[in-house]
Amino acid sequence: MDEKLEPIFDDIVRRNPGEQEFHQAVREVLESLGPVIAKHPEYAERKIIQRISEPERQIIFRVPWQDDSGEVHINRGMRVGFNSALGPYKGGLRFHPSVNLGIVKFLGFEQIFKNALTGMPIGGGKGGANFDPKGRSDDEIMRFCQSFMLELYRHIGEYTDIPAGDIGVGSRELGWLFGQYKRITNRYESATLTGKGLEWGGALVRREATGYGTVFFVEEMLAARGTSLDGRTVVVSGSGNVAIYAIQKAVARGAKVVACSDSSGFVHDPDGIEFELLTQVKEVERARISAYAERRPSARFVPQGVVWDIPCHVALPCATQNELTRRDAITLVENGCIAVAEGANMPTTPDAVRVFEEAGVAFGPGKAANAGGVATSALEMQQNASRDSWSFEFTEGRLAEIMKSIHDVCHETADKYGAPGNLVRGANIAGFERVARAMVAFGLV
Ligand code: GLU
Repeated sequence: MDEKLEPIFDDIVRRNPGEQEFHQAVREVLESLGPVIAKHPEYAERKIIQRISEPERQIIFRVPWQDDSGEVHINRGMRVGFNSALGPYKGGLRFHPSVNLGIVKFLGFEQIFKNALTGMPIGGGKGGANFDPKGRSDDEIMRFCQSFMLELYRHIGEYTDIPAGDIGVGSRELGWLFGQYKRITNRYESATLTGKGLEWGGALVRREATGYGTVFFVEEMLAARGTSLDGRTVVVSGSGNVAIYAIQKAVARGAKVVACSDSSGFVHDPDGIEFELLTQVKEVERARISAYAERRPSARFVPQGVVWDIPCHVALPCATQNELTRRDAITLVENGCIAVAEGANMPTTPDAVRVFEEAGVAFGPGKAANAGGVATSALEMQQNASRDSWSFEFTEGRLAEIMKSIHDVCHETADKYGAPGNLVRGANIAGFERVARAMVAFGLV
């Protein structure tokens, strides 16, 4: 890290004790910014880095709810409005037992740069709760969503903060959240939430967008190296919304996806993961991934196994933060992996990223590679604002253009700052510059 940035980083660590994931996300961005600060002394003068790493606002609230037996539970809800220089706060809500303020801040911080890279008018934010939906009935999750919204509603709005889904929050939960929002506010304000169902203001392709976008991004990375996905073996981690649609699109582009996972283990299917069976198991039945192997003779389930042990050309980590370690990176490189793109947020540990960089593996960081989800959320907002709905083909075309432009800007910026091929640097610098220019224009706010 540049010596001018080190004391700033130390201060951020001091002011945010114990928030390791947040420190990790900030460190990665600051490590890229040395040459930017050297070129633009006004950013240091105006303390843009110190300001960008301090959320504009952080809301923490109690979420009481009752389970089906009448027992009372208390969870902690939060929403961090990190930066609104480019537009209203925009980012998902995560419901998972691991959620704490440090996790929400790391996600919100990443979201600032990701959203900037899309070129769309959206700031960065994130929220969630340490609520565990696993094993809960539909009614319990609905009551939780309603209680969560009873506080959140006063902090959001189409010009203020626009939540969407993330881990544990999909269109079903967004339905319960939006129903409650509409009821409390007496307004059918569609553009306050994105990722909505198609019948009530949602947009085609939003469901598929993060996974599709990640595959479009990989194709750009491979094309820049004179190759393609066609005939490649792919391994995906996770089996949620991002993983499922990454698998579908990778297969459509001629790849063979041989493994995917959930928190209980992974399935290896050398014949290629069958999309219909996977969606039946994970989306319709909401069952464990082992149910896939039980119904598919060519597949085996490996409980607690590491999916990265399966040889592949392309690895798509689409589960959660810090799931791909240095050991996994070494295995992937030894097995001939040529490209990695992050469908999840920060799934690769910093020492694993270094292994890929040293081995010359093409690496697409999440804030670029998984930006298709939030970009399509911005397209959903556009459609809501104009009371219009676009066709699948048109929307997918827009998504593909956006992913190409994100790849190109990261690639060109890496070149310009003397780190050719380094998309981590390119993404951090390009995202930062867009936000920094707007912050300078606004003066000290
Ligand atoms: N949670 C997603 C992300 O990490 C989507 C956010 C959104 O659509 O607002 O980017």
